[in-house]
Amino acid sequence: MAGDICEDCGSTDVRTIYGGTPLCDRCVDKRVAEQTGYPQLPEPPGPMSVVDAAGRSRHLRFRVWRAPTGIEVELEETGVPPGEGYHCAALGAHDANVDQLVAHVREKVAEDMARIFLQPSPHRSGWILADDVVEGRLVWCDEHATGSPYAVIVDGRTLTWEELGQALSSYEGWRFRLELTDRVDDLRPDATLFSLTPTIGDVAAGTKAISPRIGVLLEEFLADQHRRLSAKTYSRYQDVIDLLRSCLNNYGHQYLNPDELTRFEAAYTNDEDAFVHLFGADELVACIPEFLDYFMVRKVMAGAELLRSSGTVTKKLAKWLGDKGYLDAGTVADVVEMGAEASRELPRAERLTNLLYELAEVSEVDLENVAEDDYVDDYLLIERVESGALWFEGGIGPVKIPKEASDLARPGWSVNVVLARVRRSWVIVEAGNVYP
Ligand SMILES: [Zn+2]
Repeated sequence: MAGDICEDCGSTDVRTIYGGTPLCDRCVDKRVAEQTGYPQLPEPPGPMSVVDAAGRSRHLRFRVWRAPTGIEVELEETGVPPGEGYHCAALGAHDANVDQLVAHVREKVAEDMARIFLQPSPHRSGWILADDVVEGRLVWCDEHATGSPYAVIVDGRTLTWEELGQALSSYEGWRFRLELTDRVDDLRPDATLFSLTPTIGDVAAGTKAISPRIGVLLEEFLADQHRRLSAKTYSRYQDVIDLLRSCLNNYGHQYLNPDELTRFEAAYTNDEDAFVHLFGADELVACIPEFLDYFMVRKVMAGAELLRSSGTVTKKLAKWLGDKGYLDAGTVADVVEMGAEASRELPRAERLTNLLYELAEVSEVDLENVAEDDYVDDYLLIERVESGALWFEGGIGPVKIPKEASDLARPGWSVNVVLARVRRSWVIVEAGNVYP
């Protein structure tokens, strides 16, 4: 990356090729913030100089950047070949306090520099151990490509594996223990999945909190329900949330504004679940009518129980999002109302779907002998319901149905139907889903 120029700001300090574009840390962070909704990270602290245990002055600089797993703060030595010299890194959660991470690596490097593992051999060129312990890190060396082991860095100094072996030459017959540890100190709280929660906004003052991504919200919601629900009820919640997630990933983009849609389409080429990874509570809620009115209806095989639950779980989710400060009270009330209506109406509509389907199955109309004017194949709104009959929009009716079916039907619902007029009344020849 040496010689590259940041394409966004012209800085020569390019550390990352981000989606094929050479960028400096700051400009990568700007793009990550735009794509994920995370706040931009603060500027790293300025460079520092430390005198090591051997009395040499070392110069180091900070990097602060957002990895997929969290915020990483690095302290690396300058004035040495890239990747060599002293180095220390810490990984915090996505909402970690950057000052604390900076303090951690500063302390860690100071500790490293205060210790010396190697000293010059008094008898030959090269090194011997100062004590019976040696710590360092493995680094790439050009010879590695042709089969040589990695080089090592001890006391900020690069040695070949061979040179390290020679430093152990006075230990013939001794036992040793080689322990490998992660390149970064992982300071994240244990549950990484739930570490994305930003600070809750001032709900009382009416300020909305920054919503985490939908994927995180849904996991957190389920985790909270798990604590208070029976296993059976919880598993139904899981089923509904799985359906909602699938609905969002497949249909949620219809309700995005043009900018969001562009972001979504770019991400979707590599990630089928891009919707729940990019967007938050507002975009989730925009898709709830689609979920309850269309998506769940097309899932009628799910059964009345699950249909009712889809309304109940939607209500619970809306209230939960409101309690967390991710939705304002008005939106919560709207979604709760939609959920309540879905709980009442979806199971009824499903029963009506089944009754109309059975009715169509037994119809004996020969469509060959039906005149064009007496034939309708359309998605129609129910305009009027009477005992034993329906009227569809455009004055189509009466359509004779059993009283059991007309008791369920409601004006305003829609049905996919094929109708034929036989003498004065209409008969259902084919019937699809009823949409409340
Ligand atoms: Zn830049």
